[in-house]
Amino acid sequence: MTNPLTLREELCSAANYFHDRGWMWGTGGNLSARISTDRYWVTASGKSKGTLTPLDFIDMNLDGTWEPARNGDKPSAETSIHQAIYSLFPDIQACYHVHSIEANLVSNFTQQDSIALPPLEMVKGLGIWEENPTCMMPLFENHLNVPTIAQNIKDYYSETKPKIPALLIRNHGVTVWGQSTEQARNTVELVEYIFRYMVLARQTVG
Ligand SMILES: [Zn+2]
Repeated sequence: MTNPLTLREELCSAANYFHDRGWMWGTGGNLSARISTDRYWVTASGKSKGTLTPLDFIDMNLDGTWEPARNGDKPSAETSIHQAIYSLFPDIQACYHVHSIEANLVSNFTQQDSIALPPLEMVKGLGIWEENPTCMMPLFENHLNVPTIAQNIKDYYSETKPKIPALLIRNHGVTVWGQSTEQARNTVELVEYIFRYMVLARQTVG
């Protein structure tokens, strides 16, 4: 059984790391890690992601009930996306969502509902092991009402098995998931590398 405090410490460490790289500035973005089949820790609403502590989390149940680590705190406004991901994929342990500049720029490179990632060596890290791979990342529209985004994600993955553990929300950010907190953290780094490459490649080509 995973120690829940260790999980929260790992989430704090990841948030700090993402904050330092400019992917999680201010209170934007949210991280979660599964405690048990039905429960996970998710960042509480309105917390600065550069200075999170293990008290800045909510113990969420997949049935929608929750318990704050600190009295008065509420779940992140975007918890419905985490709920959707954990209920869709029972074997995952962590779900990370960041609002990076590159993710937002890349999300406007197409008006389609998915975006082609360049055939870089790094896409192997997303589980795509092909020569010159065609790797598409699903791209969802942003909505002020976050449960609408969550429902769209749920509808899509109820029909389509994910090829990669990542999705993009237009003008908003990227969500990834993994079998462990370490894997989710690596995937954030990897997709941010790919997004940065895509932005720089456009500038280079002109
Ligand atoms: Zn968000």
